[in-house]
Amino acid sequence: MRLSRYFLPVLKETPGEAAIVSHQLMLRAGMIKQQSAGIYSWLPLGLKVLNKIAAVVREEQDRSGALEILMPTVQGADLWRESSRYDAYGAEMLRITDRHDRELLFGPTAEEVVTDIFRTHVRSYRDLPLNLYNIQWKFRDEIRPRFGVMRGREFLMKDAYSFDLDEAGARDAYRKMFIAYLRTFQRLGLRAVPMRADTGPIGGDLSHEFIILAPTGESGVFYDAAYEETDWQGSAISFDNTDEARTGREAAVNDFIKAYAATDEMHDQARFEAEVPAERRREGRGIEVGHIFFFGTKYSEPMGAKVTGPDGKDVKVQMGSYGIGVSRLVGGIIEASHDDAGIIWPDAVAPFGVGIINLKPGDAAADAACQQAYDALDKAGRDPLYDDTSERAGAKFATMDLIGIPKQLIIGPRGLAAGVVELKDRRSGERRELSLDAALAELGA
Ligand code: ATP
Ligand code: MG
Repeated sequence: MRLSRYFLPVLKETPGEAAIVSHQLMLRAGMIKQQSAGIYSWLPLGLKVLNKIAAVVREEQDRSGALEILMPTVQGADLWRESSRYDAYGAEMLRITDRHDRELLFGPTAEEVVTDIFRTHVRSYRDLPLNLYNIQWKFRDEIRPRFGVMRGREFLMKDAYSFDLDEAGARDAYRKMFIAYLRTFQRLGLRAVPMRADTGPIGGDLSHEFIILAPTGESGVFYDAAYEETDWQGSAISFDNTDEARTGREAAVNDFIKAYAATDEMHDQARFEAEVPAERRREGRGIEVGHIFFFGTKYSEPMGAKVTGPDGKDVKVQMGSYGIGVSRLVGGIIEASHDDAGIIWPDAVAPFGVGIINLKPGDAAADAACQQAYDALDKAGRDPLYDDTSERAGAKFATMDLIGIPKQLIIGPRGLAAGVVELKDRRSGERRELSLDAALAELGA
């Protein structure tokens, strides 16, 4: 992409309405535009990152055996009456009436819709286990939308729903998602700590929140320092439906969560002090990026979602639901990865792989070298962003740093005369002079 043809409305000043750094940087980098409180348009750079995060989430859901569907944003009130949540959900639900006076709502979550799909089409225990997920916009009329996309009213969520014949199966489905989540957050360059959590309006008796540690987070957290030291090592864990694989998943999850970690809602100070030596006790703040629930027959019972079991008798299915805040993750990743100059994208979600800065557009040698670099990087799939504008060099450096492109190739007539270009690493800040060919080789082109 040539910057002269792109739509990147960067701001020089930090907007006053943004209280935390990720919101400030998303506005300054021209990623989003607020339309109403907690409702945003996603501009090209922001949408590119959002789509990349969604792609990682999708790949790991698919790998775990979950199947993608797409449910509507607007749902009928009647389904929510069946589960008794229509009244219980309260003011966070945006209620809509259509021209026939039918009551509709903008879905804040989709347990009812997916249970309706299940009960319509699934009849036998042989069709289980089943996990259906979608990545779809949700609406919750939050009392205090704030922090940009971190607490929006409209937000993009991945929500998965598992269906099993019995509780043991449902607990295994829960562990599959648990492992998929750890893999997902690791690929996104995040350390997300699973913490025992309250089940809230979704209900149920087993629940974990996945929390990334950040001082601006809304949740208070208490945890063993082990979670700062140990990385998740489960990339080889199988998602097969064999007894051996199930035992392996149970052992891996139990081992990973054996150290204490809880949000303030679930925190037990006496247990914390008994289990964790003083020097290993950590207290801080975190951002909830995922939340998983096992809730048994809470929805299948009232909505009649059942299958015929092996003995011919009807069985109400055991369910769980599993959310990831895809749009919140954009802000969460920035909170975890930025410096004074701007965003530092992890490679997996960087909107462009390499930034090319032409220090003197119009200079024949600089133009030719930049074009050569652009063509080579483009062909190699490195998705370059070429700053071919007539801005001064300082402004170009500032923009490239602000938008967080991991590698920058800086090309100007003076360097070229000496046979070199500059290669900058955004994260370390290291800048090195080398030949254009050597730089392109390093960049995989
Ligand atoms: P919170 O406690 O932050 O209000 P929640 O527990 O109500 O979230 P869940 O129902 O567990 O949210 O939704 C699944 C995921 O969706 C959350 O883990 C979070 O990452 C994301 N999410 C929830 N509410 C919002 C919001 N208002 N804006 C952006 N993302 C959200
Ligand atoms: Mg939650």
